[in-house]
Amino acid sequence: MDVNSHAEELASDLGVDKAEVKADLENLLEYSVPIDEAKQSVRRKHGGGGGGSSPTPDAVDLANITIDHGNVTVTARVLTRGTRTIRYQGDDLTIREGELADGTGTISYTAWQDFGFEPGDSLTIGNAGVREWDGSPELNLNDSTTVAIADDPVNVDHEVGGDRDLVDIAAGDRGRNVEVRVLECEEKTISGRDGETEILEGVVGDETAKLPFTDWDPSPELEPGADLRIEDVYVREFRGVPSINLTEFSTVTLLPNPVTVADDAPRLSVADAVDSGGMFDVELVGNVLEVRDGSGLIERCPECGRVVQNGQCRSHGAVDGEDDLRVKAILDDGTATVTVVLDDEITAEVYGGGLDDALSAAKDAMDKDVVADAIAEGLVGGAYRVRGSLSVDEYGATLDATAFEVADDDPADVARAALTEVRG
Ligand SMILES: [Zn+2]
Repeated sequence: MDVNSHAEELASDLGVDKAEVKADLENLLEYSVPIDEAKQSVRRKHGGGGGGSSPTPDAVDLANITIDHGNVTVTARVLTRGTRTIRYQGDDLTIREGELADGTGTISYTAWQDFGFEPGDSLTIGNAGVREWDGSPELNLNDSTTVAIADDPVNVDHEVGGDRDLVDIAAGDRGRNVEVRVLECEEKTISGRDGETEILEGVVGDETAKLPFTDWDPSPELEPGADLRIEDVYVREFRGVPSINLTEFSTVTLLPNPVTVADDAPRLSVADAVDSGGMFDVELVGNVLEVRDGSGLIERCPECGRVVQNGQCRSHGAVDGEDDLRVKAILDDGTATVTVVLDDEITAEVYGGGLDDALSAAKDAMDKDVVADAIAEGLVGGAYRVRGSLSVDEYGATLDATAFEVADDDPADVARAALTEVRG
């Protein structure tokens, strides 16, 4: 249903003017208030009371909930609970989010008030709204929802609590707890919704992976080398990779023992790495199929650093471009392909010369392409071990390399060995 149909339904239920109801609804939706919440708010405003559907909807197994359900009653175990503040109609509102499970499956929830439950609790939740979130149903616990301790504990196959290794952290996670070492940390001033704010940005690591973080409410414990347990963080995608977010609700505790941080990046097949949706630090091994256009000697916009084509920057128009070196290579390991981007330093290594050498080679040949051609001649067909940050968007997968070296093992052999293992 679109806003118009919702407004029509409400207007006829409440016996008020449709245009007025629609304006109220649109105003609330602008603040990202879920449609169920917005409708109830409008009902209350016009004296129509909450709900609208039956006060005690049927009990439903989590696996059977679809986005077509209006309101449901469920009996489930709380797996995780994260706390966050969002801005709602100009006010800061504290919400709780996480996952519930029963014997049939799991579902995400958002609680618009504090019902006081914790991970591990078995609950019967009455009259929870169902809304669509990211293509899947999600439960909304609002002021017409009842929450009671279930008569019997709910047995679930899922891990209760938010403790996770960094490798298992994904964008969209809520209420996660991690045990990490702070590897990098720096203060930053940003212009936030309440003016200038100090935040911390950096990188944390554990035995499984490394991830970037942002602390929106700087904790003094966060400094390079600190070994910490951090509870109640949420995860969002930032520059194509999952990023850990600490808030005023996160708790930070010093750990008595050092956290082991892996020197190596996790090594994945290209297909698995791309399926992960983005990784901060990953190792791939594959063959270079092709060196793409926009490699070798390039020009960048002095304002924004974007690559300039025919003297034109996409944002700044005609500019006096600055010379730079770069490689964009297609890497293939038989499972999928990824575009590997090498910066000026790594490009100089694979080219066998720096910017000055490239410029003089181009001048001698009166052709800039000789640099990309020489690089392609050296790279194409070879097997390489690449490490860096992988981002995935609608244009494909890109790995910004921090290391690029000749692979001592043939990717095809590695793939065959993996197959033999599986068959064995
Ligand atoms: Zn520019």
